[in-house]
Amino acid sequence: MQYVNSLLDLIGNTPLLRLSKSTGSLEGAKGPIVLAKVEYLNPGGSVKDRIATRMIEAAEASGELQPGGTIVEPTSGNTGVGLAMVAQAKGYKCVFVCPDKVSEDKRNVLKAYGAEVVVCPTAVEPEHPDSYYNVSDRLASQPGAWKPDQYSNPHNPRSHYETTGPELWAQTEGRITHFVAGVGTGGTISGTGRYLKEQNPSVQVVGADPAGSVYSGGTGRPYLVEGVGEDFWPDAYDRDVADRIIEVSDADSFAMTRRLAREEALLVGGSSGMAVHAAIQLAHELEGTPEGEDAVIVVLLPDSGRGYLTKVFNDEWLGQYGFPVDGAADVPVQTVG
Ligand code: PMP
Repeated sequence: MQYVNSLLDLIGNTPLLRLSKSTGSLEGAKGPIVLAKVEYLNPGGSVKDRIATRMIEAAEASGELQPGGTIVEPTSGNTGVGLAMVAQAKGYKCVFVCPDKVSEDKRNVLKAYGAEVVVCPTAVEPEHPDSYYNVSDRLASQPGAWKPDQYSNPHNPRSHYETTGPELWAQTEGRITHFVAGVGTGGTISGTGRYLKEQNPSVQVVGADPAGSVYSGGTGRPYLVEGVGEDFWPDAYDRDVADRIIEVSDADSFAMTRRLAREEALLVGGSSGMAVHAAIQLAHELEGTPEGEDAVIVVLLPDSGRGYLTKVFNDEWLGQYGFPVDGAADVPVQTVG
């Protein structure tokens, strides 16, 4: 019989899918090829399952997290889901602190795993006792509480150094020439990129970043794509790893996200569309050059599009922000009878 005893054994070892239609003129060409690492196939639905397990196991080993302890993290996104899932599997309590602008759907996913969600008002100053920052600090200082802090926890990039990087090296049989990933905390690109460069220093590591974020020289100007870009430099980001950062607009990220669903049947989130846009731009730059012939570009797709059905995949939402709408994803429902 083939089975695992723990859900945690299902994390990682995600497949690579060659992109064909969305790569346009590259279709059928000898090289470069673009391969997508499909991270929504992790059991919690995103790349963040990797860091959740590694951060929790390291805190168990160091004694920071004791049996019966409580994990406290100010997050409502994929890291929250990963932590809630691993905590449930290992018998820890979880408390997530999130601002009131976070959708009810996201809060409900965390609650479904048995986590507690504390909602804080957005309309108060950071110094206010009810602010997001103060509430999470207060909860994290309770006895038995432990805060992973994905932005500064070295086990975030380390999980990618130990899993994502070796997987890509093995899956491409050492032929990977470029690694493209969106940058949020910086854990994915720093850990994976460092591992790959240690195997072959000529592997090019390319970050994709929303226009306005610090990684591409911005100051934190608002953008709509979720999970990537920052208005500060996190410790999890290693500035020595990326060879290049490609800035991608919201419009290009969302257009590619929708194309991936219709052309590759890949229902993924906006940060995946952003990263693929950058990867295809790179592929076109390499096309026809001697370097391009053998180029194997791997792009990481962090999560599924299910969490964005009312945003990226909704024509009205896109239209409201002035993004081009093609109408194809929002076919009106026909009521019969
Ligand atoms: N995309 C999504 C949807 C994410 O949630 C994250 C994590 N913030 C990223 C991309 C970026 O990954 P990292 O934090 O490892 O840079």
